[in-house]
Amino acid sequence: MSSLIKVSINSSGSSLNFEAQFPDSNSLWEIQLPCWRPGRYELGNFAQYITSMVGVQDGQEIRLKKLDHHRWQVPAGVSTIKWGFHADILNAGSTFVREDLQYVNPVNCMLYKVGDEGLGYEICLCDVPADWTLATALPYEMVGGNFVMQARDMQHIMDSPWMASPELWHAGYEVEGVEFHVWSYGCKPPRAEKFVEDHIAFSKSQIAYFGTFPADFYHFLYLLPKDIEVRHGVEHEDSTVIALGPEDKVNSDYGYDELMSIASHELYHAWNVKRIRPSEWMPYNFTKACPSKLGYIAEGVTTYMGDLFLFEAGCIDLENWCGKIEVLLSRHLNNPGRLNMSVADSSFDTWLDGYRPGVPGRKGSIYVEGAVLAFLCDCRIMKVSGHEKSLSTAMTLLWDRFGKDRIGLTSEAYWDVLAEVAGERLDDLRDDYAYGVKDSWDDLVEAMAFNGLKLNKTIDEKGVVTPKLSKL
Ligand SMILES: [Zn+2]
Repeated sequence: MSSLIKVSINSSGSSLNFEAQFPDSNSLWEIQLPCWRPGRYELGNFAQYITSMVGVQDGQEIRLKKLDHHRWQVPAGVSTIKWGFHADILNAGSTFVREDLQYVNPVNCMLYKVGDEGLGYEICLCDVPADWTLATALPYEMVGGNFVMQARDMQHIMDSPWMASPELWHAGYEVEGVEFHVWSYGCKPPRAEKFVEDHIAFSKSQIAYFGTFPADFYHFLYLLPKDIEVRHGVEHEDSTVIALGPEDKVNSDYGYDELMSIASHELYHAWNVKRIRPSEWMPYNFTKACPSKLGYIAEGVTTYMGDLFLFEAGCIDLENWCGKIEVLLSRHLNNPGRLNMSVADSSFDTWLDGYRPGVPGRKGSIYVEGAVLAFLCDCRIMKVSGHEKSLSTAMTLLWDRFGKDRIGLTSEAYWDVLAEVAGERLDDLRDDYAYGVKDSWDDLVEAMAFNGLKLNKTIDEKGVVTPKLSKL
């Protein structure tokens, strides 16, 4: 019996056609399509893009019985499954094909055998020409003129996107023995030389703080379409997909800053969330919604640290960093939802309305309120430790104790480690800003002053708050 699922993929127009050979089974079995994807904590309902799902029995195609929206039953003796997937959405977490691009997030469109998630995958890109370039963190080889990729198991394949195109821009660099690749489809990265230098700088800076990088290699997959409006980034175990378009946005100063902010944020995720991960997501359960209250760590700490590392690495100066914090604080101060629902509860509810404005004043944002809380924690730790320790010290400890061995993180463990590093508990910050809805203004002013910055605000006639930072 094979311990592999062998998958062949062909495309036609906007569709991808899959044919998979699963190990033989003498009894009824089930196949599952993920219903959400890591990085976006809401149901993606990817089965809405499935156009056909059949098994092959004695050379005949038979329709498979659906058990729920994302699960099908397969009769005994059937081991070949064929399905179609409509792939015409382009963003950092989607699957998209057109003449000069095959871009696949397997978590959208790949099946796995229920109860046999340890099965490996061998995936043949049957109609991708041999002279195209393939960008992916998956190992691959050329077999009979075809790209053939391997994945260890279900979790590995679901976290490993690829893009293939006749033309991909590429640059490589090495930091502390880790091989980094920067790929781009569509536009060439803006200010390409500086673009790569900045990647080297923030990679060095982040690795220096954590001490080690989780993998031997890492791939930045940039989708910079000339003709599609998009702004988005998604983290993966050994790679990230970052999408920005159209062309004039990519080549603007705004575009460059956006790409750098997203890139540093996504690399930080290689530690925080891909390995230091809330226990509810360890491992990922793709069959149902998996709410966690720890989005303020997963996305909040990452949002704060991503920009802080751009500053630490010298990619941006203090003025730039203050500009980014002003934008963050503006979003924070102008969202009355932060005073209605805690960021922990808002995290639990991302599955309902976390990725749209939703009901005005209902909820906070794990990115914004989470980053504000991370900043307050960072300043508190620096203050009480006399600048000896910081939130980075705590994150490094979490990497050593939880991330490396992939032990799921709990709220208790997180706040205990912060207390251990600080030398005193941060329960007031936890109770007020993670699990409570206290207004943060006074603590923000104090924390900024600790950093030599004065925080002011103006309020216009419509009640819109504009924060302003200046040197003390
Ligand atoms: Zn993120």
